[in-house]
Amino acid sequence: MDEQLIQKINKLQDAFATVGQHNPVDLPQIAVIGSQSSGKSSVLENIVGKDFLPRGSGIVTRRPLILQLVNIPPPKDPSTEPAEYGEFLHLPGKKFTDFSEIRNEITRDTELKTGKNAGISPLPINLAIYSPNVLTLTLVDLPGLTKVPVGDQPRDIERQIKEMINKFIDRPNAIILSVTAANTDLANSDGLKLAREVDPDGNRTIGVLTKVDLMDKGTDVIDILAGRVIPLKLGYVPVVNRGQKDIDTNKSITKALEYEKQFFDNHPAYSSKSQFCGTPFLSRKLSMILNHHIKATLPEIKAKVASNLSKYQSELEQLGDPQDDQSGGNANTVLSIITEFTNDFCMVLDGHSNDVSSYELSGGARVSFVFHELYANGIKSIDPLDQVKDSDIRTILYNSSGSSPALFVATSAFEVIVKKQIRRFEEPSLKCVSMVHDELVRIANQLLNKPAFKRFPQLKEQFYFVVTNFLKTSVFPTNKIVTDIVSMEQCYINTAHPDFVSGQKALNIVAEKNNPTKLGPDGRPLPSSRSSNSNSYERSLDQEMNLPKENGFFGSFFQSKSKRPTIMEPPPSILKASGVLSEREQMETDVIKLLIQSYYNIVKRTMIDMIPKAIMLKLVNHCREGLQKELLKELYNPEALKELMKESELTVQRRMECKRMIEALNKADLVLNTV
Ligand code: GDP
Ligand code: MG
Repeated sequence: MDEQLIQKINKLQDAFATVGQHNPVDLPQIAVIGSQSSGKSSVLENIVGKDFLPRGSGIVTRRPLILQLVNIPPPKDPSTEPAEYGEFLHLPGKKFTDFSEIRNEITRDTELKTGKNAGISPLPINLAIYSPNVLTLTLVDLPGLTKVPVGDQPRDIERQIKEMINKFIDRPNAIILSVTAANTDLANSDGLKLAREVDPDGNRTIGVLTKVDLMDKGTDVIDILAGRVIPLKLGYVPVVNRGQKDIDTNKSITKALEYEKQFFDNHPAYSSKSQFCGTPFLSRKLSMILNHHIKATLPEIKAKVASNLSKYQSELEQLGDPQDDQSGGNANTVLSIITEFTNDFCMVLDGHSNDVSSYELSGGARVSFVFHELYANGIKSIDPLDQVKDSDIRTILYNSSGSSPALFVATSAFEVIVKKQIRRFEEPSLKCVSMVHDELVRIANQLLNKPAFKRFPQLKEQFYFVVTNFLKTSVFPTNKIVTDIVSMEQCYINTAHPDFVSGQKALNIVAEKNNPTKLGPDGRPLPSSRSSNSNSYERSLDQEMNLPKENGFFGSFFQSKSKRPTIMEPPPSILKASGVLSEREQMETDVIKLLIQSYYNIVKRTMIDMIPKAIMLKLVNHCREGLQKELLKELYNPEALKELMKESELTVQRRMECKRMIEALNKADLVLNTV
C-alpha cells in the first residue's frame, strides 16, 4: 500500500485549506453520510481507534469535519515524543495528545461558528491525526440527515444538510461511505438514496452496515452482503460499534474492537467470512480504494493545478500591483488612464473603436444620426404657413401698403411674416445641441465602465465629474452660435438669393394657376380649386429645392422604428381661412405665401447645413481637443492623486484571493512534482 501517496493528498488538502470554500482542485477523500444516529461518528472513531469525536443524542456533528489520518512510525523515544496526537488547521503547531481535548476543541469551534443551539454550518473543521495505529486516510464526517428542525435550526434544515452533503459527495473524486443501521430497512436508507443521486452506477459508494448486534435474533445481513438487496460495486462491510450503554460506561475502543471481532468470529451467519467483517477490514478496504482512486485521478489533478495556476496568475497580472506611490506610480497610472480615455473618446467619435458593434449605432454614428435624421427631418417638417392665416396676411398687407410699389405691395408683408417664422428654427436647433451633448455624455459613460475605473472608484467619480462639467460648459458657446445663426437669418432677408423665386415670377405662377389656359369640354376655362393650386406650388418648390422626401441616409437602417422622427415636429395647427377675400386680395395673399415658402426653404437648407457644422466646431471638436487638457488640469495634481488612486475594496480583496490561491497552487504543484 502506498502510504506516501495518500500523505501527498493530505498535504494538498492542507495547501488548499487556506483558500476556503473555493478549492479549485477536486481532491479525493472519503465522505461519511447517513441518517442521524445511524452510527457515522462511531464508525469514524473505530477507524481512528480513538475516542475523540463529540457524541451524544440528537444532532452532534454540525459542521463538516475533514479528518486526515496520517500513519507515522512509533517514536524512538516515547518519553519526549508523543506517540499519537491531533492537530487542527485553525490552531497550527498545537499538538493535542489528550484526545478528549480534541473533542472539546471540536465542540468549542463548532459552537463558535454555529452557536450552541443545534445550528449547522458548511464551514469545515480540519483536523489531522498522526498515529502509528492509523492508516493514512482522509475522511469527512458530515451532519446526519434530519427532517424536522429543532433548536436554532432553520425550517429548511433537511434541504440545507442535503446541500452541504452534496457539496462533498457530488465531486467525482469523492468516495462515499454510506452508513445504514442494519436494524433499519436498507430500502429506506437516506445515505444510499443520496449516494445514488450523485453516483447512480455505484462506482464510488461503499456501504457500511452498523448496529449488526442490534438485529433481531435469526435475522442477518447476509443477503445484503451478497448483493441481493441493493447491489454496490464496492460492496458492504458490516460493523459493530459501541452502543449507547458502552459509551455511558466509557468502554474503551480497544475493548470494543475486541468485542466486534468476537462477535463476527462467533456469529453463526458471519463466522465463515469474518475476515470480511468489522472495522479493521473496513479501514484496509478504504485505504486501498482511496489509493487506487488517487492514482487514477492524479494526472487530472496535475492538469487542473497547472491550468488554475495560469488562470489566477493572469488575473493577478490584470489586477496590477497594489498602488504605492514611492516612485510616482500613481501619477503614471493617472496619466495613462487619462490618455487612454481621451484616445478612446476620439476613436469612438470617429468610428474607429475596436468594439464597433454590428447591431447598434455607436459614437460618431449616433451623432450623425442626430444631424441627418432627427434634426434635418425636424427642420424640414416645419410648415411656415401652418400658423399664418390668410386673413392675417391680408391684415399685414393692408398695414404695410403705402410704403410699397403698387404692383408689388407684398415685399414688406412677406418680410414681416418670414422673419417671425425663421425664429421657429431656434428651438429644434438648440434641441439638436442638447442631443449631441447627450451622445457625448453617453460615450463618456461607456468608457467609464472599463476595468481601470472599477479598480479606482474615486478616480471614476472625479472623471465623471470633470467630463460632464466640461461637456456642460461647452454647451453654452454652442448654444450661442446656434442662436446667432438663427438671428443672422432673421436679421437680413436676402431676396437677392439666386434660389429665391422673384416677385414677378411668383406673380406669374399665381396668375397662371388662377387663369389656366386649358379649356374644359364646354369650351370654358376649367375651374381650379385653391387647394390643388397650393399643392402644386409646393411640389414645384420641392423640386426647386431638391429636398429629398425619402428616408435619407439612415432610412433603411431605422425603417422598423419610426419612419420619420417626430421629436422636433411642432404640434400641427389647423389652417382656417376667415372671411371672404376679394379676388385681388386672394391673389396677393397667394403670392406672399409662395414667396414665404420659397424663402423659407432656402433658410431650411442653410440650417440643415450650418447648424451641424456649428455644433461640430463648438461642441464635438472642442471636447475632442480640450478634454485631455481639462482632465490633466483637474486630476493630475499631486495632492489629489493619493485620494483618487485608492483602490476599491473589491480589487484589494480579489488580489488577496488570487495571491492566496496562487500560493496554494504553487504548494500543490510542488507536492505533485514529487509524486
Ligand atoms: P451518528 O449520528 O450517525 O454520528 O451516530 P453516532 O455514531 O453518534 O451513534 C448514534 C447512536 O447509535 C449512539 O448511541 C451509538 O452508541 C449507537 N450506535 C452506533 N453504532 C452502533 C452499533 O454498531 N451497535 C450499537 N449497539 N449501537 C450503535
Ligand atoms: Mg455524528
